[in-house]
Amino acid sequence: MDKTYLNKFYKMNHIERLNALVASGSLTSDDLLLTKGLLLTDELADNMIENHLVNYELPLGVALNFLIDEKDYIIPMAIEEPSVIAAASAGAKIIAQSGGFKTIISERIMIGQVALKDVPDIPFAKSNLIQHKNDILKKANDAHPSIVKRGGGATDMFIRVIEADADAGTPEFLMVHLHVSTLEAMGANIINTMMEGITVYLEELTKGSALMSILSNYATECLASATCRIPVDLLKKNDYSGEEVRDRLIEAGQLAYVDPYRAVTHNKGIMNGIDAVVLASGNDWRAISAGAHAYASRSGQYRALSTWKKAENGDLIGQLTVPLPVGSVGGSISIHPAAQFSKRLLGYPSAKELESIIVSVGLAQNFSALKALVTEGIQKGHMGLQARSLAISAGAMGVDIEKVAKLLKSAENMNLSTAKALLKEIKT
Ligand code: NDP
Repeated sequence: MDKTYLNKFYKMNHIERLNALVASGSLTSDDLLLTKGLLLTDELADNMIENHLVNYELPLGVALNFLIDEKDYIIPMAIEEPSVIAAASAGAKIIAQSGGFKTIISERIMIGQVALKDVPDIPFAKSNLIQHKNDILKKANDAHPSIVKRGGGATDMFIRVIEADADAGTPEFLMVHLHVSTLEAMGANIINTMMEGITVYLEELTKGSALMSILSNYATECLASATCRIPVDLLKKNDYSGEEVRDRLIEAGQLAYVDPYRAVTHNKGIMNGIDAVVLASGNDWRAISAGAHAYASRSGQYRALSTWKKAENGDLIGQLTVPLPVGSVGGSISIHPAAQFSKRLLGYPSAKELESIIVSVGLAQNFSALKALVTEGIQKGHMGLQARSLAISAGAMGVDIEKVAKLLKSAENMNLSTAKALLKEIKT
């Protein structure tokens, strides 16, 4: 990738940006023609969901400056919120100057569950399940032979007993978990088929009755971690020294560790980046969000997903781990034209590489948000971009949008009524 073509990318117009991406080698000239056809056709959308009426669109932009595991990336993000892409790119720019993101991706093992109730003899049921473990795994694999042929499939079984709770009025459950390698797929349908395929057999083995069979979106065996290391001379901001920014940023991380009210907002910022890439790549962002927030509560309290600490030499070290059961195939990934466009832009990453990209964007987003929060505050940067949305909401069109946004930035109250008043002023 020739990054020289991407200088001042944010100042270019839409066509110039696309041309710059082609010149840099990130897209081909064929993609320029395709961008016109990225919209979902009614026929396609009608086959994706039920009762389809119209398509709800989101802007898809790109975050720049990402250096992940020694490789440069231009990252597609689908999001309606202003300033997220700018913040990700700004954070990534600083981190790229100090070696970029380093990622570690675990084995991609997904979890399926069968919940059994009314099991008369739990110790007997457990030992019978363990005795027949190989048969259970075989039955699961027989239910979805194509994933086995590809080299994946069910590999292990675990049993959990959830005690009855008289106070809550909940009964006892015997949970059978299968660990399944779904290779390049997120695997929801693969696993659901397998779990339903073993349900009757598990009822026979346990003498219990199945309540449900489905994958768990709490993908604790499919974790992605990113770290970054930033020297303090890259952290200086306005009147704050690099050391002060580092220490305040570490304290911000500590606050989000101990205070759930802060942790939720801290993690929402991380998910701004993660969900936008998950969505652009055609993956299931509800699954990723649900799993990430559950992972944030794994200690029994909802906490920050990221940690920030001081290295021995004084550098700032950031780390983020999240479950990321995304796929490079399956679901709407191979159907949605914008997801296909994202794939080309990212150079057809494998599911593991996509995890590396997504977790790095989450960390960049968190770094930028915390850095702004502990220095000038979040509103300065955010409202600068928000000004344009306000101008449009006030009814500005064409060149008036920029005019109103500019005046709004220096207005005492940046709000809709000021935007409307400014638009009226311009028009008279
Ligand atoms: P699919 O049902 O699309 O299955 C993946 C497909 O990819 C299979 O058909 C498989 O083909 C094919 N494939 C091709 N190459 C590979 C490869 N290298 N590795 C793995 N598979 C390959 O998708 P998923 O099972 O991943 O399910 C994801 C979808 O399920 C998402 O749309 C999600 O929204 C939805 N969903 C989510 C739920 C949840 O999260 N709780 C619940 C239900 C649905 P072959 O069959 O030939 O092996």
